[in-house]
Amino acid sequence: MTAPRSALILGAGLAGLTCAHELAKAGVAVTVVEKLPVVGGLARNVSVRGARFDLGGHRFFTPKPELVDWLRDLVGDDLRQVGRKSRILLGGRYFDYPLRPLNALSGFGLTGSARIIADYAAATLRRGLAAGDDLSFEDWVVRRFGRRLYDIYFRPYTEKAWGLPCDQISAEWAAQRIQLLNLTDAVVRAIWRRDDGPKTYAQRFWYPNGGIGVVSEALAARVRERGGVVRLGCAVERVVVRGGRAAEVVAGGETFGADVVISTMPLTLLGRLIGAPADALAGLSYRAIRCIYLLLAMPQVTDDTWLYFPEAGVVFARSHEPRNWGVDLAPPGGTSLCLEVFCNEDDEMWRRDEQELAARCIDDLARLGLIAAARVTGVFGERVPQAYPVFRVGYRRALRAVLDHVGAATNLHLLGRTGAYLYYNMDQVAEAAMALARQLVNA
Ligand SMILES: Cc1cc2nc3c(=O)[nH]c(=O)nc-3n(C[C@H](O)[C@H](O)[C@H](O)COP(=O)(O)OP(=O)(O)OC[C@H]3O[C@@H](n4cnc5c(N)ncnc54)[C@H](O)[C@@H]3O)c2cc1C
Repeated sequence: MTAPRSALILGAGLAGLTCAHELAKAGVAVTVVEKLPVVGGLARNVSVRGARFDLGGHRFFTPKPELVDWLRDLVGDDLRQVGRKSRILLGGRYFDYPLRPLNALSGFGLTGSARIIADYAAATLRRGLAAGDDLSFEDWVVRRFGRRLYDIYFRPYTEKAWGLPCDQISAEWAAQRIQLLNLTDAVVRAIWRRDDGPKTYAQRFWYPNGGIGVVSEALAARVRERGGVVRLGCAVERVVVRGGRAAEVVAGGETFGADVVISTMPLTLLGRLIGAPADALAGLSYRAIRCIYLLLAMPQVTDDTWLYFPEAGVVFARSHEPRNWGVDLAPPGGTSLCLEVFCNEDDEMWRRDEQELAARCIDDLARLGLIAAARVTGVFGERVPQAYPVFRVGYRRALRAVLDHVGAATNLHLLGRTGAYLYYNMDQVAEAAMALARQLVNA
């Protein structure tokens, strides 16, 4: 393999643009083709009547200083640190998110806590006796926390978010995302009346002034400054593999070719376009969301950065209030909310009329005592088709088959959360994009 002179990148989200920027800096001629009329993909900006939103609040968090330097280099002084406060509203009570032992136990009351602890102790004992491979999310959680906490806390939000029973969701997902709790330690602390710290889970994260989309906008500008091309409204329609290479890509009615092709668009779409096995593709899918944005004539709804709503009777699963991320994001004289409604592309929730869905969201918020319907001064919505790759039990076999098919085209590379079918956050996406660019340039 020799270093490429040209690269064609499919998708102008964070992955595509970061890779394009790194390659352009190394002197590679880059072209990025993007279906939407804007850059940023899942991490793009939405503006409505003086208010700015992300597609669900996007915090930038990384333990790696070099990634913060990278971000600072892109957005300069337009970067702030925000204190994180996330809570769960369940049965009329607020719980910390992620769950903290003492806070959880105090929220479930004496009898409820006793049952949770008994279940947890039995699960811990059983786990010690029988080491086994967990197949599903349900197996993983029940074996570590007991069934009671699973039923009250873990199952409702997970099933709402993924639209699948937990015994069909891969245990890998739980292992990656759930922090283990030490309930024994919590009980000891409760007996000795020692608090387990502040009542809210606080942590600081980075956030650019003007919204998360500013990062991708800065990257696109840098790519163009270096002579790269970013074509918007240019959807990939065909990928032609010939002689073991991605020889041509047709996008927006035009034919493109390059030494390397890097795909960050949905893996299922790329797979279909290059004839990956249909049964393998059927094992992969993405969960969609609809974002309902509300403009509100009130100073603040809560002081949370995110609020989670596990109950099935509430149509949205999560909300964020941009003013808590930066007052400049709120509409003049008021506040705003972004509500995330999980669905599958083309199901009833995906198709539901926007005003009807917004009315349901407003009813739910009013019932929960968070807003009065009369305070809503504006409503707007966005559909986000491929928000989360879905990790069903057995998805790895399907993924392997699709990756093998893609691998047959030696100059075709997969990148990013949507393109490589990984549950990546932005820092991981940026890091992977830099690593791929380095690997290609040093080949
Ligand atoms: C609700 C939500 C909240 C999140 N919150 C956080 C957070 O707080 N912190 C964090 O770090 N991460 C967060 N993330 C994850 C973050 O958004 C992603 O890690 C990151 O944006 C993924 O970038 P990407 O470029 O890999 O994928 P994408 O952004 O999906 O980029 C793929 C691009 O391909 C384009 N495309 C699709 N089809 C075609 C086609 N036919 N032709 C050309 N282009 C096409 C798409 O329009 C898109 O621009 C969140 C994600 C969601 C959904």
